[in-house]
Amino acid sequence: MQSRLPRLLTAGLILLMAGLFVTAFLLNRNNYLASIGTVDTSFVQLLEQQAEGLRKEIEKQEAGLFSKLENDPLSEPDADLFIVLDNRVVPACTAGLLETVPEAEADTALEKRWAAPPGQTSLSHFQMAARRRVSTPDDLYRKTAALFNLLEIEPDTRTVCSILALLNLTDPALTESQRRFFRSMLEEQVPDLSEIERRASRLWETATAIDRSLTRRKGTYRAESNGKILSVREDGLAVLYSPDIEATAPVMLTQEEDHESHEQIIPGLFASIPSQVVDKAKASIGKQYRTGNIILALMVLLGTTLTLGLFAAAKRQRQLDAMRTDFIATVSHELRTPLSLIRLHAETLKHGRIPEDKVADYHQTILTESERLTGIVNNVLDFSRMERNKLQIHLEPTDLSTLCEQIAESFHFRLEQEGFELERQMESGITANVDPLAYSQIVFNLLDNAIKYSDDEKHIRIELESSNGWNILRVFDRGIGIPDKLKKHIFEEFVRSDDSKVTARRGSGIGLSVAQRLAEKMDGTIEVADNQPKGSVFTVSVPPASSGLQGRQDGGDTIEEMHETIGG
Ligand code: ADP
Repeated sequence: MQSRLPRLLTAGLILLMAGLFVTAFLLNRNNYLASIGTVDTSFVQLLEQQAEGLRKEIEKQEAGLFSKLENDPLSEPDADLFIVLDNRVVPACTAGLLETVPEAEADTALEKRWAAPPGQTSLSHFQMAARRRVSTPDDLYRKTAALFNLLEIEPDTRTVCSILALLNLTDPALTESQRRFFRSMLEEQVPDLSEIERRASRLWETATAIDRSLTRRKGTYRAESNGKILSVREDGLAVLYSPDIEATAPVMLTQEEDHESHEQIIPGLFASIPSQVVDKAKASIGKQYRTGNIILALMVLLGTTLTLGLFAAAKRQRQLDAMRTDFIATVSHELRTPLSLIRLHAETLKHGRIPEDKVADYHQTILTESERLTGIVNNVLDFSRMERNKLQIHLEPTDLSTLCEQIAESFHFRLEQEGFELERQMESGITANVDPLAYSQIVFNLLDNAIKYSDDEKHIRIELESSNGWNILRVFDRGIGIPDKLKKHIFEEFVRSDDSKVTARRGSGIGLSVAQRLAEKMDGTIEVADNQPKGSVFTVSVPPASSGLQGRQDGGDTIEEMHETIGG
């Protein structure tokens, strides 16, 4: 039940995360769909607003343009305005030609002019006569004559321009003498004729150029002035098309009606939002949506990893806590056995109830068990100091050959009692810079384990040699061996195999951890491998005596002091 609970919690948590992700994803998606849905309507609203603004702007510009038409275009350099007459672009200053009136109407107007009472203005009658439709050279003559009358009443450059245009007409044309006559009249009446003529001819050239360019474009363009195009439709409505307006509005102006979303600004001119703009807006929302999803996924991943990590850390902490609790019980239990043996043998000796030849054995048992007791307590103390970073070692040149012989000797009685065969192959005179007590503790732990974890084949072998300057100790046993999976972890604290052969033996799981940390403190290493054909081999390597470690001390209690306090 206890082990199922965290699993249930983890599963629940993953489900919760998945649920959160799905909810967040759906919310994000809804948001995306809603935003995408509003794009079109918001652009339509924008289009309506823009159209309204443009309408006003166009009305303003049109008014300005038409008022210029009313004034003298030649005296206003900005107002080079053109109109289309009979499908041809001509300068607007030829206003006299703008409307063509049937001959009968023009003649009637002229007759009225002559019939009018003296002193009364006859301007409008002459204007009407001057607009006479021209189809024959005679019409042309009358129209030109009417224009001269107009010029006399109201001299303006517009009329001069119109006369010049008529003089230049080729079809129908005036006779050469008529042309010369009108020309000389003009020269007499208009002092700055050559200047007007020069400007008029420039306007005609421009008109011809516009005419050529407009025939290539769609729409009914009627006039162009300073980059602005005035379009007058067949129904007489005017449209001003200005590239400036389009540049300031995020809409496209067109004269084509067949646009998907369009708004008529003024008759003949439509505004629409370019499809690229709409697509771009939609793509940007799509990008935001995808980025949102990625961020969501990353957040969920991070959240899950963090939570699972916390769970794992909490689980590991619980395991360590449980191990620590077990540890105290195990150590106490481990201590109890040698203590009971010591007590039993001491009491027996005290009461003198044993034969004389066994007394030495009893003393030996007491000695061996106290050494074992010392070994256990030293492990616990070393471990506790290491945990608090308080362990200090004192390195000194040590004769490892002698030290290992002594330790092996101290095991002699126990090995013999338990029926072990100990094989030694140790080079003599091997010296290294080690803390003798720390090194002894390592060897003690390895030999103790070799005894503990052997079953039928009770054979232990110790090798000591110097190789490539390193001092190498090997402890071989033919015991139960260590599975590969466990080999990676046996040097970690509290790690014990859960094999029944191991759990049946006393142990607290700190012996190898202490051995490794002590070896590392002496700049050495400890490794495990399989022995052949069975069992394990532990190898402890420490650097040579010359590696300059002599007398090095770490902060904290020396291992000597510690071990001394418990009689090591
Ligand atoms: P303890 O012996 O108190 O359990 P150790 O730290 O000394 O703790 O050893 C850790 C574990 O490594 C042991 O529980 C055992 O599973 C395994 N082990 C250590 N030495 C040997 C060995 N010589 N043969 C087989 N297994 C061993």
